[in-house]
Amino acid sequence: MSELPAGRHFFRDDVGYEEARAATVWNARTPQRCPDVVVQATETADVVATVRYAQRHGLKIGVRSGGHSWAGNHVRDGGVLLDVSRLDGCAIDASSRTAVVGPGMGGSVLAGRLAAQDLFFPAGHCQGVCIGGYLLQGGYGWNSRVLGPACESVLGLDVVTADGQCLHIDRDNHADLYWAARGAGPGFFAVVTAFHLELYPRPPVCGSSLYVYPIELADEIYPWARSISADVDRRVELQIVASRAVPGAGLDTPGIVMASPVFADSEAEAAAALSLLETCPARERALVAVPYAPADLDTWYAGVMSNYPSGYRYATDNMWTSASADDLMPGIARILETMPPHPAHFLWLNWGPSPQRQDMAYSLEDDIYLALYGVWRDAADDGEYAGWARTNMAQMEHLQTGVQLADENLGERPAPFASPEAMARLDRVRADYDPDGRFHSWMGRP
Ligand SMILES: Cc1cc2nc3c(=O)[nH]c(=O)nc-3n(C[C@H](O)[C@H](O)[C@H](O)COP(=O)(O)OP(=O)(O)OC[C@H]3O[C@@H](n4cnc5c(N)ncnc54)[C@H](O)[C@@H]3O)c2cc1C
Repeated sequence: MSELPAGRHFFRDDVGYEEARAATVWNARTPQRCPDVVVQATETADVVATVRYAQRHGLKIGVRSGGHSWAGNHVRDGGVLLDVSRLDGCAIDASSRTAVVGPGMGGSVLAGRLAAQDLFFPAGHCQGVCIGGYLLQGGYGWNSRVLGPACESVLGLDVVTADGQCLHIDRDNHADLYWAARGAGPGFFAVVTAFHLELYPRPPVCGSSLYVYPIELADEIYPWARSISADVDRRVELQIVASRAVPGAGLDTPGIVMASPVFADSEAEAAAALSLLETCPARERALVAVPYAPADLDTWYAGVMSNYPSGYRYATDNMWTSASADDLMPGIARILETMPPHPAHFLWLNWGPSPQRQDMAYSLEDDIYLALYGVWRDAADDGEYAGWARTNMAQMEHLQTGVQLADENLGERPAPFASPEAMARLDRVRADYDPDGRFHSWMGRP
């Protein structure tokens, strides 16, 4: 007897092991790493039993919620891989504007349920990403420039600690662990079984602008985007995506898409908030120009997901920066020149300047976020495309403040993701709550 949940654990020689292991990773590039046993929890008691099992047998633990870690962080050699994707309950209390949500709940599913009650949460921009990994790392979602990284809306968490205890943690209970849970990301050292969330009223108006430019105009577009970055209304998410084709706009040559969601109290306010984007010096040469149109979550998700098809192989890397356009442009030119075919893409996200954040492990961000998504279908192309994101970011490393854990590639390119003070405190809190190192840490750290 293994004391693990009956019928829901798979040792390496068991039928179903490989299926259970591979199912924990959304990226078609499933890591070659093999845990000793994969456990699928369906309730908190399974989590407690698994943690105690690992403790008794001296095994390390990796935890998976939605499996959207690009690097498959939770899949390590040896130890236990604990899959909590089935902990996906959701209780919404509209009167107190709070919800208790399991880590296996998809962010887009949560957003849909809230919208039905005229409520809102800064859930991620993509379908499939679950709130477990998303909230631990920060969480850059709808209207996050106003509401903050989503972890600022985590009021408390239910966790199982390294010694198998069930705790509720918040600002008054185990405050250190609560501090760590909002930003430790894939290095968190307990299992989250539920998040207690603060909700918001649904913004009366959601809309967006859309511009598509030929990629030859990059030398005008990015310096302009940098020059207006501090003035972009915080209700506007200015995202600039470059790729070798824009099928949605009927473009089979390289293009730059500027799709910017906006949240406001009225259509007039929304259009006014977006009007700065009309000042692009290349505006008259836009292939598509829609200064404002109403939109809804379903339309947005469909648009975003066209860049992230499932069944493809992904390799990502990223950086935060406040560098000038002059300093950034040589690196951007290299990114565009070396970019693999669509749907590989380069994202420029206008984020800062940010307000003072809560006191939490999440402690590093900057004005501009650059992320590279290598996307291809055939394993035979791994050698050609898998290094594109990392190599280009490494060449621009002198311009980076640090990286986001959302698109982390720490195993291949360790880089700062929290302030030095936060890193030191994370180490101290880990030593208190996980003295034996039961939970895997980040795959790399600076
Ligand atoms: C297509 C796609 C789109 C994305 N879009 C966005 C976006 O718009 N905004 C954004 O901020 N991020 C985005 N991301 C990044 C995403 O938020 C992170 O990869 C996040 O970690 C995924 O959460 P998950 O639960 O699905 O993944 P998982 O792979 O299950 O979790 C990631 C890591 O978090 C830890 N973890 C997960 N669950 C638990 C738990 N219950 N207890 C303890 N530790 C746990 C583990 O270390 C795990 O390896 C996107 C990723 C993809 C693949």
